[in-house]
Amino acid sequence: MTATMQKYKDFTNKLILFCALFFCSSAWAANNEINGVRFWDAPDTTRIILDLKNRPNFESFRLANPNRIILDLNQTEFKGDVPYVKRSHRHIKNIRQARRNNKSRRVVIDTKGLLDYRTYTLLPNKSYGHRLVIELSKKEKKANQVVHPEPKTNKRQAPTAHARLRDIIIAIDAGHGGEDPGAIGKFKTQEKRIALSIAKKLKREIDKQKGMRGVLIRKGDYYISLRKRMEIARAARADMFVSIHADAFKNPRVKGSSVFVLSAKGASDESAKWLANRENASDLVGGVSLDDKEPVLARVLLDLSQTATIDASTRAASNILSEIGKVGPVHKNKVQSAKFVVLKSPDIPSILVETAFISNPQEERRLKNGRYQDKLAKAITRGVKRYFKKSPPPNTRLAASNQRSTDNVVEELSKELSNNVLKEETKTASNNNNKNNLTSFADI
Ligand SMILES: [Zn+2]
Repeated sequence: MTATMQKYKDFTNKLILFCALFFCSSAWAANNEINGVRFWDAPDTTRIILDLKNRPNFESFRLANPNRIILDLNQTEFKGDVPYVKRSHRHIKNIRQARRNNKSRRVVIDTKGLLDYRTYTLLPNKSYGHRLVIELSKKEKKANQVVHPEPKTNKRQAPTAHARLRDIIIAIDAGHGGEDPGAIGKFKTQEKRIALSIAKKLKREIDKQKGMRGVLIRKGDYYISLRKRMEIARAARADMFVSIHADAFKNPRVKGSSVFVLSAKGASDESAKWLANRENASDLVGGVSLDDKEPVLARVLLDLSQTATIDASTRAASNILSEIGKVGPVHKNKVQSAKFVVLKSPDIPSILVETAFISNPQEERRLKNGRYQDKLAKAITRGVKRYFKKSPPPNTRLAASNQRSTDNVVEELSKELSNNVLKEETKTASNNNNKNNLTSFADI
């Protein structure tokens, strides 16, 4: 066999192998099925979810007149139903599907107006199989997308009579939601429901406190992306972010609450991201805009802000941990740190509370109990309050009332001091008199 023939043979072998692999993979994809279509509404978005047997091979595009979004799924059958869409739905007019050719399926979403959309696939979890998600949202003008919070002043200013005092704002984030149920207990309790229920109770407790107000990041059963949760907190000018979850572990005996803050590694990853985006984000960190700073200075400012934020988060977290430790067992005695995305705001102290283990049947039962949820909400509120009592943000009612009580203490102390001085003076005077008397006696 000549060298050329050998090369030729090698080439054909490779070609056969390639074709075999190619057909195998298309044969595997040929049996994909859409088993159902669901949709969830969040305040700004609607998500349509296709439940699939396998990972989808698809294309998507948008057409106008009439406005619609098209999904072509290759090698896919349709089994199941298309959901009914109310006429009053904000975003969707109708969802329909049809066979496109022998092998592919077309799903059409008729939309109300020209909508922005994005698609992504999700891998199977405990509750669902493969999913294709189509997220619809109103077209937004670029300028509106950047949130410009009011610059926070770092200097502690004594409130003047003219300065309007504000409430301390606690952003309360119920973990998961909508198509993401979170962890699921033995009795089928879903983490997303427990988290929302405790979050609502926490808001009620926070609102009862003088000078404090709670803002719910999600108010119902829908999913909000992790970054969006941070944005909502920032737009609400939150002074603190508290995320509520319930833990899960394969060992059902593991129990107790834990409290998390962002880890140093998580902070440095985030700082790289902020610095990379600073030109177009023009965001503010701790009242300082990063977009006009030299890179080294921007980095230093951001590091300072992050360090101070993690420090504040840790102090608040340990207050919360000690309070929830009075309600039930704690999993770890110390504040934990991890790279949770929702905790990454560089200038808002952020805490994640794993209320208990939903994977522990005893704790699952307790988490479902309204009275236990109340106790947890009250304990978290006490922890938050303890922290802010010591470190109230400037221009807040709490800072002013602390100032007033400090003033009162100072006033009382000075009153007491002047009284004592008076008494002391009188005593000295009388002593002197006595002394004088004594002297006069001795003189006799
Ligand atoms: Zn969770």
